[in-house]
Amino acid sequence: MSSRKIRPAIAVIGAGVAGTSCAAALLRAGHDVTLFEKSNNVGGRLATRRVRWTDASGIERSTELDHGAQQFSAQSPRFRAVVARAEKAGQAEVWRQRVYAAFPEPRMRLRVMPVPDMPSFCRNLLGDVPMRMGQQVQRLQREVDGWRLVLADGEVGGVFDHVMLAMPPAQAALLLAGHKDDWADALAAVPMTPCWTLMAVTDDVDWPWDTAEPESGPLAVVTRNDRKPGRDGAAGCASWVAHATAAWSNEHLENDPKVVAQMLRAALSSLLPPDPRREWQHVGVHRWRYALQAHASSGRAECWWDPLIGLGVCGDSFGAGTVEAAWRSGDELADAVAASLDTELMVTEEISLTIARGQVAQEIH
Ligand SMILES: Cc1cc2nc3c(=O)[nH]c(=O)nc-3n(C[C@H](O)[C@H](O)[C@H](O)COP(=O)(O)OP(=O)(O)OC[C@H]3O[C@@H](n4cnc5c(N)ncnc54)[C@H](O)[C@@H]3O)c2cc1C
Repeated sequence: MSSRKIRPAIAVIGAGVAGTSCAAALLRAGHDVTLFEKSNNVGGRLATRRVRWTDASGIERSTELDHGAQQFSAQSPRFRAVVARAEKAGQAEVWRQRVYAAFPEPRMRLRVMPVPDMPSFCRNLLGDVPMRMGQQVQRLQREVDGWRLVLADGEVGGVFDHVMLAMPPAQAALLLAGHKDDWADALAAVPMTPCWTLMAVTDDVDWPWDTAEPESGPLAVVTRNDRKPGRDGAAGCASWVAHATAAWSNEHLENDPKVVAQMLRAALSSLLPPDPRREWQHVGVHRWRYALQAHASSGRAECWWDPLIGLGVCGDSFGAGTVEAAWRSGDELADAVAASLDTELMVTEEISLTIARGQVAQEIH
């Protein structure tokens, strides 16, 4: 009996919130887990970027902007416990957000804010999980000894007994095709909306809200990034993250980013107090091709796991398309995998015990 069968090797692909929670829970349960991520950062859509510019006096300046999810909520008891631990460790704060939705009064909203940046939430959860960063899994190949992970450069990233996919549904569908076509078809059909995001830095602006949710126009949400807890804004500047609506983003999906930046800057400008002398220190855009689910999935399990072929799938699309849904899905998948591997282990141990007893019996006779 090989030792790999007692402690199977598990690959988790995708280091967003779902992959992080799955890999961290599997490691906690004593499993041999490796996390693959195509980019050089963890977090996925829980993202923060440093932007740089040269000011009017020629001085190089920079600040960080959260250009993916702005904040999140924690409703389920298990996720609330994770957030409470992060708060206690100084890794997250409650953001008392003043939201301007309808004139005249802003409403208050309490949300979770990882500090000092969004990906730190995943970094802290991952702890000692072994990671293979900058490695995009292009294809899964099933062989008698397990799953081969074929990387973008054609190299094999390793052979694993079990593989967990933790990425947007359209990307998971590509890896599943030919192995689990029913899953691939169902995931390929999940409607995801894109999002163009404006990242801008202006000179300081007297703006009474942390977030605005305009009822019309190209922008769905505008956040004053430097007013979030634990963020170091650039002195004398205001930093802005503005997400375009799904409809607008779809319509302009393949447009030149420079043109998109001009249009979104004009839209943000119309929401700020008029000032013809306003300085735009930095303006940039990011396109999220798979940003949000068009609508929450209903009636679907929180994850998929097939113990017969050792393949699992998790991600925010198994729930409401939020950070919390992603975390829960990854955690549920880890539970399902750990439970079936424990059963497999018990059966394997029982068989080896029976064989050992048989050998002893033969030796006695
Ligand atoms: C603009 C925007 C605003 C949002 N606002 C909110 C909000 O306010 N509140 C909220 O709760 N949620 C919000 N969300 C949604 C939230 O960010 C997601 O629900 C959550 O982060 C998804 O986590 P995930 O792990 O399922 O997927 P992802 O974060 O997409 O992680 C998938 C990871 O897999 C990696 N990957 C993909 N394919 C491969 C491959 N082949 N090989 C290796 N790695 C791969 C990717 O690089 C990525 O790191 C927002 C999202 C966006 C884009």
